[in-house]
Amino acid sequence: MATKKKAVVKKAAPKKAAPKKAAAPKKKTSPKGTTKIGFVSRRGQVVVRPTGIAGTDHGQKVYQVACSKCGHNYGSNGSDIHDHKCPKCQGGHEGLAY
Ligand SMILES: [Zn+2]
Repeated sequence: MATKKKAVVKKAAPKKAAPKKAAAPKKKTSPKGTTKIGFVSRRGQVVVRPTGIAGTDHGQKVYQVACSKCGHNYGSNGSDIHDHKCPKCQGGHEGLAY
């Protein structure tokens, strides 16, 4: 019995480098960069300027923040800017004096 040898051509499946897992969305835990003049928070609050006045949070300074929705200006701790709602039109807590 003649054994038919089947030439098995192995297709070398090119091993594709597994696509790297999409980097998990960066959690904004640190408010770095949110005290830069011109920074706009997700709530539409814009950093106008640092006032140089000590804030109410430890080691924080008061920044003048302007609401891009209604134009209201108020003071906010540097650490609060990224999450601060406008006291006037977004129901945020009252701004700090500056
Ligand atoms: Zn506003």
